[in-house]
Amino acid sequence: MISICVPVYNGSLYLEECINSILHQSFKNFELIVCDDCSSDNSLEILYKYNDDRIVIYSNKINIGWVKNCNFLISKTNYQYFCIIPCDDYIPSNYLEKLYLTMIKDESMVNCYPHIISFGKKNYRIHQKSLNQESTIERVIDFIMHHFKGVSFRGLIKKSKNMDLLFLNIYLQDDKFADTFQIFQHAIEGKLIEVDVPYYKRYHDNNTHSKWNDDVIDLYLSIYMFAKNFFNDTDLKLCHDTIYQKCQNTSFLIKNSFDIIVMGGGIQGSCVSLFLKKLGYNVCIIEKNNSLMKGASENNEGKIHLGFVYSNDKTLDTAKKMLVDALHFSNIIEFLLDEKIDWDAIKSKKFLYLVPKTSLMKENELDEYFPKIQNLYDEMIQKNYKLNYLGKRPPKLYEKIKTVDCMNPEYFQCCYETEEFSINQFYLNEKIIHTIKKKGIPVFLENHIKNMKIHLGYYEIITDKGYYYSNRVVNCLWENKTKIDNCFNEKKNYTTNFRYKFGILSKPIMDLQNERSITFVNGPFGDFVNFPDYMYFSWYPYSMKGFSVSDKPPDDWKFETLIENKQEFIQLHKNIFNDIFKREFDFIDPKIIGSIIVAKGDKDIDNVDSELHKRCEKRIDYKKNYFSISTGKYTSGPYNSFLLAEIIGKCL
Ligand SMILES: Cc1cc2nc3c(=O)[nH]c(=O)nc-3n(C[C@H](O)[C@H](O)[C@H](O)COP(=O)(O)OP(=O)(O)OC[C@H]3O[C@@H](n4cnc5c(N)ncnc54)[C@H](O)[C@@H]3O)c2cc1C
Repeated sequence: MISICVPVYNGSLYLEECINSILHQSFKNFELIVCDDCSSDNSLEILYKYNDDRIVIYSNKINIGWVKNCNFLISKTNYQYFCIIPCDDYIPSNYLEKLYLTMIKDESMVNCYPHIISFGKKNYRIHQKSLNQESTIERVIDFIMHHFKGVSFRGLIKKSKNMDLLFLNIYLQDDKFADTFQIFQHAIEGKLIEVDVPYYKRYHDNNTHSKWNDDVIDLYLSIYMFAKNFFNDTDLKLCHDTIYQKCQNTSFLIKNSFDIIVMGGGIQGSCVSLFLKKLGYNVCIIEKNNSLMKGASENNEGKIHLGFVYSNDKTLDTAKKMLVDALHFSNIIEFLLDEKIDWDAIKSKKFLYLVPKTSLMKENELDEYFPKIQNLYDEMIQKNYKLNYLGKRPPKLYEKIKTVDCMNPEYFQCCYETEEFSINQFYLNEKIIHTIKKKGIPVFLENHIKNMKIHLGYYEIITDKGYYYSNRVVNCLWENKTKIDNCFNEKKNYTTNFRYKFGILSKPIMDLQNERSITFVNGPFGDFVNFPDYMYFSWYPYSMKGFSVSDKPPDDWKFETLIENKQEFIQLHKNIFNDIFKREFDFIDPKIIGSIIVAKGDKDIDNVDSELHKRCEKRIDYKKNYFSISTGKYTSGPYNSFLLAEIIGKCL
C-alpha cells in the first residue's frame, strides 16, 4: 500500500485535476491524505464533494506553511511508502505503478522518482541523475552537484525510521529549498533512481518556489552542518569541497563551524572545552569579555566547598554534591592541565566556621549536621581510594571549639575548626587559560552572544561580531544561561534569581597574618579568607547588592552603578571587621571585586526557605545535542565537565 499526500493551499483552480489524476491510478492500493492549509478560496469545498473511502481530509485552522503541512501529512501516513503531490500538479495514470514496481526491486532504494514536464507559464522537461551508488558520500556529492532542482521530492519515498530523515527541514529560512534538502536526506538514507515516467508540474504566478531567490547559502550551510552528523572527517571534507565548488561564498560560514561550541569562558566553559578537546572534538569557546575567566570564576573567594555551609538543606543533597565535587576537584584539574599542582602552595588558611548569634541555624542543629558531613566524607573516601581534597585525605574534617581568642564573642554563638580551604583562583585560572591556548582551542573573545537559532541538526550562535555554527552546543553562560535556554521557546517551571556579591581584596595585613580564614554561617553571612599574597573580606549586608528574579540580570547592574561610593563601601567593611577581630587595622591597597550569583528560586538567602541554601539543582539539562550546565559553584566546574563529557559520549 502507498500513502499519497496532497498539501493544499488556494488550489481551487487545479485541485480537481490533481485529485482526479490520483484517483484514476492503475495502482489501486493507496490512501489519499489531503490537508488544506487554511485556504482563502473554496479548496475545502471542492475536497468535500469527493465521496471516496480512500480520501481522508484534514484542514488547518491557521496557515502553517507548505513545509509543516507536508510534515503533518507525512505524520498521518499509514504505509511504508508515500509520495507528496502538490495540489497544482497532476500525474499520469501509470505513475504509482511504475514507481512502485521499481522501488520493490531493491531494498536499498529509498526514492523512485519521475522526470518533470513543466507546463503553464514555463515549459521544459527536467531529468535528474539517479543517485544509485552504494556509498553514501558518493550519493551526497552527486546530489550536491546535480539535484538542486527538487525533482525527486515528488517521487515515491520509503519511510525512514530516522525522524530527522523522514520529515522536511522546518528550519530553513522561509522554507526555501526544503524540497531540495529532503532529497539530500534521502541520499543519506539510500539510493534514488529515476524511473521512466513523467510528472506534470504546473507553472503559475503563485508557485511557492517562484518567490525564492537564488541565495543558496542557507541551504548549503544546512547541508554541510547536517552532513557533519553522518560523515567522518575525510568524507566531510569532500562534502565541503563540493559545496565550495557549487557556491563559493559558503566557505566563510563553514570556517566558523565546530563540532561543539562552548558558550561562556568561565571555570565551567573552560573545563568543558579542555575535557572535550581531550576527547578529540573540534571545540571552541565564545566569550563576551576580552579574556577568559573574567566573570564569577575570577571574582569569588575561591572556597572549595565541603558542604559545611549548606546546613539548611536537611536532605543533605547539597552537602553530598559539594563533597563529590570537592573530592574530584584536584584530580580533574590535573587531568585537564596535564600537570601536577602544588595545592599547598595555593591554599588559604583553613576555615573556621563561626556561627553568629542571629544565625538561621541553631547550635544543636549544627551539632547534628557537621557529623553527617563527616560520615558522608568517610563513606566516599573509603569507596574510592583516588578521591582527595586538594591533594590530601584528612581523617577528620572538623572539630568543635569553645572560644576563639582573637574574635569578638559578640559575633558568634559557637565555632568549628574545619579542614576546608580556599584556593588562589587567580593562579589556577591563569593555568587554565594557558592550557587552553597551548591546546589550540579557538577562543572568540569580545563576542557577546545575543541569540541562538535552532536548525535541523545544528545550531547557529549569533553574537555582536558574527555567526558561529555547530552540531552541539554547551551553555556555560552562568548569568545568561536561562536567557539562551529560552531560545527553545519552552516555559521553564522554575524561577532564577540574581544577586551581585562584592568583596574586598587587600594586600596581606600584618595583624591578621596568623588568623584562620573565617566563614560566618547562615546570617549574617560573611567571609575572611587569608592567603599569603592577599586577603578577602565580605560581609553580607554590605557586600550583597541587588536582588532580582527574572531570566537574566537587570541590564543596569554594572559594577559602577551598584557601588556608587567606593570609599564608603570600604569603610563599612573596615569597621565591621575591626569590630569582629577586636583590633584596628586598615585594608592595604583595597580592591573591590564582585560578580553576579545565580540561583534557582525567588527568595533571598536570609529567608530560611530560600533555595539558595540548596545547591543541588540538576547539573546538566540536555536535549537534541544542546547541553546547559548549572554550575552553582566554582567547586563544581571540573566535576560537571567530567559528567558532561560522559553524557556527550553516550549521546553519540
Ligand atoms: C562573589 C562570589 C563569591 C563566590 N564564592 C564562591 C566560592 O567561594 N566557592 C565556590 O565554589 N563558588 C563561589 N562562587 C560561585 C562561583 O564563582 C560560580 O559558581 C562559578 O564561578 C561559575 O562559573 P561559570 O563558568 O559558570 O560562570 P562565569 O565564570 O561567570 O563564566 C560565565 C562566562 O560567560 C560569559 N558570558 C555570559 N553571558 C555571555 C554572553 N551573552 N555572551 C558571551 N559570553 C557571555 C561571561 O562573561 C563569563 O565569562 C562565588 C560567586 C561569587 C559571585
